[in-house]
Amino acid sequence: MMPLTHMPTNASQTSDRPLVEIRDLNTHFFTDDGVVKAVNGVDLDVHPNRTLCILGESGCGKSIMARSILRIVDAPGRIVEGSITYNAEDGRSIDLATARTNSPALRSIRGQDIAMIFQEPMSSLGPITKIGKQITETLLLHRKITKAQAREIAIEMLAKVGIPKPAERFEAYPFELSGGMRQRAMIAMALCCEPRLLIADEPTTALDVTTQAQILDLIAELKDELNMGVMLITHDLGVVAEVAEDVAVMYMGQVVETGTVHDIFERPQHPYTRALLESVPRLGAERRRRLPAIRGMVPHPLARPSGCTFRTRCDHFMAGTCDKLEPVLTGQGAAKVACHLPQNTEVSHG
Ligand code: SF4
Repeated sequence: MMPLTHMPTNASQTSDRPLVEIRDLNTHFFTDDGVVKAVNGVDLDVHPNRTLCILGESGCGKSIMARSILRIVDAPGRIVEGSITYNAEDGRSIDLATARTNSPALRSIRGQDIAMIFQEPMSSLGPITKIGKQITETLLLHRKITKAQAREIAIEMLAKVGIPKPAERFEAYPFELSGGMRQRAMIAMALCCEPRLLIADEPTTALDVTTQAQILDLIAELKDELNMGVMLITHDLGVVAEVAEDVAVMYMGQVVETGTVHDIFERPQHPYTRALLESVPRLGAERRRRLPAIRGMVPHPLARPSGCTFRTRCDHFMAGTCDKLEPVLTGQGAAKVACHLPQNTEVSHG
């Protein structure tokens, strides 16, 4: 493994830089049956005080892409190519893709600068340690404060994430809390060090709609308060519409379309994005209309189609082009699409 690379930069250039710049990221899994290209050439930027939603069906590589940022991809997966540049507050740029997984610099970025929350809170909460102790340990690891100060901050944070009687809950074990409360406790732990970037992997999928809305509101509030960048991974278009400023649509390990939330909902260009949008019910739509499903199935990861990976399900497939040439992400401004159809072509699905 290569050491962390520090590239000093002019501080004046840092103000409008993205927090994280991902370039040509490839994370592959080396199995007995072959190589699974879970993330295959992803380019993405995450900006301060903006929420980037990563949208895609299960298995499209969105979680592996997010875990690659923190270098917590389980074996037999590993990053084989590309860079993940983290632009630190002091002006340094650090390539997380080549950092040693247990180096002090990467350990200090994890939790301190970049925090992650998961669908299942027990992925980050230890089952046999009290909630308060888990939060104070994180604080004491990253900040030069006393135990008493850590306790005070932890209780304040539990209150901030909407946990009633926070001083009492500080002494509770995770199993003594409901699912929604555990989720809030995990968010409190993730945010206690005021990270610059929060990666949230389907953080509300397992929750009822009321708790889901409260947690999404809470993340949005804290994003504004802390000027935090948020990368939110979801398969739920309703969540995207509610919280996203920027959107990246993934299919078979690749980003097939990016843009602002307005671009994606008002002017979707990729046939896959359009199919996703057409497959959800809309208020005011004709009653009893059958919702079109995306035809076919996602191909087996060990049998990636040549050319465009979506071609086996696309109604606009062009023989000789879509099966021969891999489309690359192109476009102007934030709106980019990886498709051989000329831009602005009327696309329908189903
Ligand atoms: Fe469909 Fe071809 Fe565009 Fe792929 S490149 S989405 S197959 S039109």
